[in-house]
Amino acid sequence: MLSMQRMRRGGAGSALGLGAVRFQACGRRPPAAGWMLLAAAIAGLACAGAERSQVSPRVLIVGIDGASPRVVEHLLAEGRLPHLARIAREGASGKLRSIQPMYSPRVWTTVATGKLPAKHGIAGFVRVDESGERHIFQSGDRRSHALWNIASDAGMSVEVVNWWTTHPPEVIDGVMVTDHLFPEVRDERQAFMRATLDAADAVPVHPASWLERVEGLRDADTRLTEVPDPFTEPERFPGWVDAEFLSYRFRFDETIARIALEIAEQEKPRIVMVLLPGVDKISHFIWGALEPPDELPPGTRFTPEQQAYASEALYRVYEQADALVGRLAASFGPDDLVLALSDHGFHVGGAMGALTGLHKDKRAIDGVIFARGRGIAPGSRAEPVHVKDLTPSVLAWLGLPVGLDMDGRPAGFLDLPPPATVASHDRGPIERVGQAIPAVEERLVEELEALGYLEEGGGEPAGAPAGGSQPPPPGQTAPKHGAGPADAP
Ligand SMILES: [Zn+2]
Repeated sequence: MLSMQRMRRGGAGSALGLGAVRFQACGRRPPAAGWMLLAAAIAGLACAGAERSQVSPRVLIVGIDGASPRVVEHLLAEGRLPHLARIAREGASGKLRSIQPMYSPRVWTTVATGKLPAKHGIAGFVRVDESGERHIFQSGDRRSHALWNIASDAGMSVEVVNWWTTHPPEVIDGVMVTDHLFPEVRDERQAFMRATLDAADAVPVHPASWLERVEGLRDADTRLTEVPDPFTEPERFPGWVDAEFLSYRFRFDETIARIALEIAEQEKPRIVMVLLPGVDKISHFIWGALEPPDELPPGTRFTPEQQAYASEALYRVYEQADALVGRLAASFGPDDLVLALSDHGFHVGGAMGALTGLHKDKRAIDGVIFARGRGIAPGSRAEPVHVKDLTPSVLAWLGLPVGLDMDGRPAGFLDLPPPATVASHDRGPIERVGQAIPAVEERLVEELEALGYLEEGGGEPAGAPAGGSQPPPPGQTAPKHGAGPADAP
């Protein structure tokens, strides 16, 4: 990526914000009745005109959890990430600076709010209540409005799929599929829905009318890309690698993308935000294959054959993410903004008897960012840019005001004039539908614990005994069904 970069050329697209702001009112929410119908009809004409003249730009944001600059640069140089390469050619690319500790819920919430965790309130994976009980951080624990709330309030339709810490779903102008859709808690969810008077109260999707289709897509398991599943031959991996689990994580990225595509095709939202968790989940287990064997504890070393096979498998996961970015971006035109980014990289480190990759220290502080769209000079450098800059950048690009209470600012590579500002977007309540399902929450906490993800920094108060710090004996691997919104120590 970095070798492909040229010095940025002069600023195109300086009038961008003005063009965008005129069409803020082109939302998709149907009006009630009476005079509003007339107003909507007039607005509809304006919107149709806007679409025809291509002045109503759309935004796609694809999160590739844990995509490392080191691997991305290597694969770009080998021509194996054609879709990210194209974005780099047509726009900007570079490293994206993250925040420590790099726990995915806090970083992705910073990406979505423009604020650091001290302000947005999502400190890690779990919070501990007065009685010492652990709870998964939920969307209601977020103290800041996210990009999807701000845009939705401005009349722009939004689609959010599998973003961290979005359950229970929020009422937005569009569709939100939360990060609690995964199949491994299906039984708990169904039991709860049978037991409760209002079943709609527990769905991981807003609006609930999308639930059946989303669950159908989740369970269909058809392929979207041609990248072969690299985990179908478990005997090629060391015994402590649970290839079946990794295969599940690999295919789950396709599931997420398939759901996102279906909603995008049907609803044509202005803003689409999708998070692909597979690269992170899989890197935790087989990152060590990219490293000299003596960097790993004796129990988790790869033979030379296993090392070659597992590193190639990890590259395939990146290739699939690249292909999914290509599929998701296919309907976005040259004037739209397309962003692909990761929340951190990886470094070598043994943990839990089965993990060989971590993102614990500053060796993993950088993720990647790729951006193309109106106003971004082709082949330009994205740096310096920080995870807290994403939401201010997208707001400014759309012509929406940036919150003065945000910690980030619009990224330089967008080359925008100073944006309009507002003291804060955190005004008014965020409406949420549904609630935490206790059995689901318990199950998720158990799984996080079993993987050792609840150590200090994951949300435990300082000085509390670290949960789940007992590593499984060598040879024993992670639970078969994965840990849902889990991350590594
Ligand atoms: Zn992770």
